[in-house]
Amino acid sequence: MEKTRVHNFSAGPGALPLSVLIQAKQELVELPNVGMSVLEISHRSSMFDDIIQTAQNNLRTLLQIPNNYHILFLSGGASLQFSMIPMNFLRESGESAYYLVGGTWGKKAIEQAFREGDARKLWDGSSEQFNRMPASDELEIVSSGAYVHITSNETIQGIQLNWEPTFGVVPLICDMSSDFLSRPVSIANYGLIYAGVQKNVGPAGVTIVIIREDLLERIPNGLHSMLDYGVHVEKSSTYNTPPVFSIYMANLVTQWLLGDVGGLDKMAAINHEKSDTLYRTIDESSGFYIGHAQEDSRSVMNVTWRIEDQTLEQEFVNEAYKCGLHNLKGHGSVGGLRASIYNAVTLESVNALNKFMLDFQARWG
Ligand code: PMP
Repeated sequence: MEKTRVHNFSAGPGALPLSVLIQAKQELVELPNVGMSVLEISHRSSMFDDIIQTAQNNLRTLLQIPNNYHILFLSGGASLQFSMIPMNFLRESGESAYYLVGGTWGKKAIEQAFREGDARKLWDGSSEQFNRMPASDELEIVSSGAYVHITSNETIQGIQLNWEPTFGVVPLICDMSSDFLSRPVSIANYGLIYAGVQKNVGPAGVTIVIIREDLLERIPNGLHSMLDYGVHVEKSSTYNTPPVFSIYMANLVTQWLLGDVGGLDKMAAINHEKSDTLYRTIDESSGFYIGHAQEDSRSVMNVTWRIEDQTLEQEFVNEAYKCGLHNLKGHGSVGGLRASIYNAVTLESVNALNKFMLDFQARWG
């Protein structure tokens, strides 16, 4: 079966490590020593408790998460976080929240915050077609405010913040949906990090939230329980039935990262090798391929580019598909081509795409 798997460059849900899929397949009918499928166990069982605890411990080890941070597994996608964050931290703060609007997802995040209070743009890349992130000297350093919200990697535009801002006492909140666990990060710089898992960590269904203990004190009374981070911390992510299978898969992926890959430094090095391969081909194509992102903002996860003769882009997608290279069409709002090369996309897949790109240029250039 595995031999017929294609090279999957989907932006999300994205490719999962083959060894994890095989393990999940083997364990699907009966979890070892449990006698039931993971799809059948209660979220209140000791079996599930083991799974969620191990997933948390693995995340703590991988990211070196200090003890004053809680790790939550929530539903509603990263999109629900766009609402929960301002409900919990802006609504009754009497302060402003500042958003770095670097692309489509940052824009969607601030749109929800506008409903809750005084949300302001710290930086807005829309006039430059969202083709870059701000440099460190372009971001106003706010010294007071409810929080600063950034999106570390804009999945649609293929741009990534390649430096980590800090804002002193103002909590930094980051949507890391599309580069979570792709590289080490300094957790202590952040008040809250969130990521939908369906790019680097597992199948859709769960959003990982890492939240610093002291932020809980800012949450206003009277929020709906499901929208209150305090409730989820108190109930250890089981206030309601969490997405058990997605958490089980996230656990397997974190084990794969720790064991097979050997940690986030190693993962980051592999990811750079993959993205460098494709960007080199774009750069050396004498203008046949044109990268969307400015060089210092290039995403290591989502490579976005156009063909100078845009009428060839559909041909590229069709021919690539026939060669087993799937999901290369760019997002509708940007057009062009996009290769999402998340953690589980192998160097072999990237090399196959690279070879195809060179060959396509030789034939059509
Ligand atoms: N933020 C980013 C950076 C994303 O890439 C996405 C999904 N592509 C989202 C938020 C929204 O995630 P979800 O669909 O899980 O709500």
